[in-house]
Amino acid sequence: MKEQDIVRDAYNRSLHDLRISVIDQCNFRCSYCMPAEIFGKDYAFLKGEQLLTFDEIVRVATLFADMGVRKIRLTGGEPLLRKQLDELIRRLTKVNGIEDIALTTNGIFLPKYAEKLKEAGLSRVNISLDAIDEEMFKKMNGRGVGIHPVLKGIEAAEKAGLQIKMNMVVQKGVNDHQVLPMARFFKEKGITLRFIEFMDVGATNGWSMKDVLTKQEMLEMIGAEMPVKAVDPHYVGEVAKRYVYEDGSAEIGFISSISDAFCSDCSRARISADGQLYTCLFATKGHDVRSLLRDDHTDEELSEHLRMLWNKRDDRYSEERNPDKVSERSKIEMSYIGG
Ligand code: SAM
Ligand code: SF4
Ligand code: SF4
Repeated sequence: MKEQDIVRDAYNRSLHDLRISVIDQCNFRCSYCMPAEIFGKDYAFLKGEQLLTFDEIVRVATLFADMGVRKIRLTGGEPLLRKQLDELIRRLTKVNGIEDIALTTNGIFLPKYAEKLKEAGLSRVNISLDAIDEEMFKKMNGRGVGIHPVLKGIEAAEKAGLQIKMNMVVQKGVNDHQVLPMARFFKEKGITLRFIEFMDVGATNGWSMKDVLTKQEMLEMIGAEMPVKAVDPHYVGEVAKRYVYEDGSAEIGFISSISDAFCSDCSRARISADGQLYTCLFATKGHDVRSLLRDDHTDEELSEHLRMLWNKRDDRYSEERNPDKVSERSKIEMSYIGG
């Protein structure tokens, strides 16, 4: 890509990753994301016609690829609840410029879909699991589902030849005692485990700074039993800080949005399932791309508009966060914007 074609925001950050939420619904009710008391029977989830169609998603992805996007991550809600996701993946792999397609999932439906997804061109899955203790996990996912369906999902992804990373959100006083058992379990399996600091996304999870176990605290806890050393990022803007066990058995990572923000390299845009563009995970409002797609605009007009939105982007929420004032900002829910 020629330097003059690279789109840059107000802080000179380019655009490299696009996260596409394909659905806002989920089969789990993790309390830090979709608390059951809020996301209940009467919750107004998006309706079919509100969701971007596959044609619309592919068109958006094509426009973004022309602006420099190389990686696409499909997420949600639970993305495997969207019908024929493999078909979407197959089409996205054909978009000029897209080099990598990944998926974030709670893993439950992988035994059913892993093979199909791999065949369609998916390269990587991030599977979420917040505890290896059966009762703890049942409680955390809000649906009483045990760990075995997730372990079966991991097996299915391995069998299909997908690269796997695990994600664990750590909340002090909730599942912090699971950090070591999870680290031991996935070290033994040789699978990368990434610890995510509990974040103040959305407005429903009752976030407070006192619930955050920081990267440093986790690193000390793990390192005391299983020594690790830092490794360089794979590329500029990589979200996780990487470490490898000194015996070489596996890697771990930390997503430290709270204690060690990484806004200065942030090259990610997000599209919600109903086609709103968000230039930050903590945004208070999106830009309505779906209306533009559904009006009679040419690709050139759309592209010009998207470039203008990225040029104006000045988000750096995590670097500016005031932990005492997070509830004053009406942020978008994670299940809607896509993690
Ligand atoms: N349902 C899929 C899953 O759980 O992997 C994909 C969507 S989920 C919103 C994406 C990721 O966001 C998951 O790894 C989840 O644990 C993480 N997440 C959700 N709420 C979070 C919060 N408040 N703080 C940190 N991570 C969060
Ligand atoms: Fe569902 Fe993922 Fe949110 Fe849990 S974190 S409620 S699995 S969308
Ligand atoms: Fe990017 Fe916003 Fe997160 Fe900063 S807070 S790293 S700008 S998504």
